[in-house]
Amino acid sequence: MRYSFCPKCANQLTLQIIDQYERLVCSGCGFVFYQNSKPCAGALILDGRKLLLVKRAEEPFKGYWDIPGGFLEAGEHPEAGAVREILEETGLHIQLDRLLGIFMDVYTTTGDPTLNLFYTATVIGGEARAGSDANGLQWFDLDALPEQIAFRSAHEVLALLRNGHPKNANTF
Ligand SMILES: [Zn+2]
Repeated sequence: MRYSFCPKCANQLTLQIIDQYERLVCSGCGFVFYQNSKPCAGALILDGRKLLLVKRAEEPFKGYWDIPGGFLEAGEHPEAGAVREILEETGLHIQLDRLLGIFMDVYTTTGDPTLNLFYTATVIGGEARAGSDANGLQWFDLDALPEQIAFRSAHEVLALLRNGHPKNANTF
């Protein structure tokens, strides 16, 4: 998201170089509007060699398959966020296994950089049903994943899961 006005005093923000980074600075009160990557958490829900994916009902990547997960709330631990998002999107209660990796990406509709934590997980309860932002759920064999998968970070984490090494992972 590209911001135009100061959130404190509503004067114009201008780009300035501070600490060697381009930063938005208020022309009125001098407030420096530091920007950060948005934290997200997702879960690779596994049952043997099968992986649960959700079909996206909204842009970006509408109609593509995706690893369930989403944006963290302020102050929310990523483990709690992953469990919450999976319950919202799939109706399933999960238990996280381990942190598989951290991947940088961009939320393409807003241009916001994202910082994505992916856990492996198993289902411990609930009933599978697609949430409001999903069009369906499906278990896929890890050797026969669909071609249309949303987000570069998802491609990278799936490569890591299947091959033991990510292709271009942790690079931006
Ligand atoms: Zn200001």
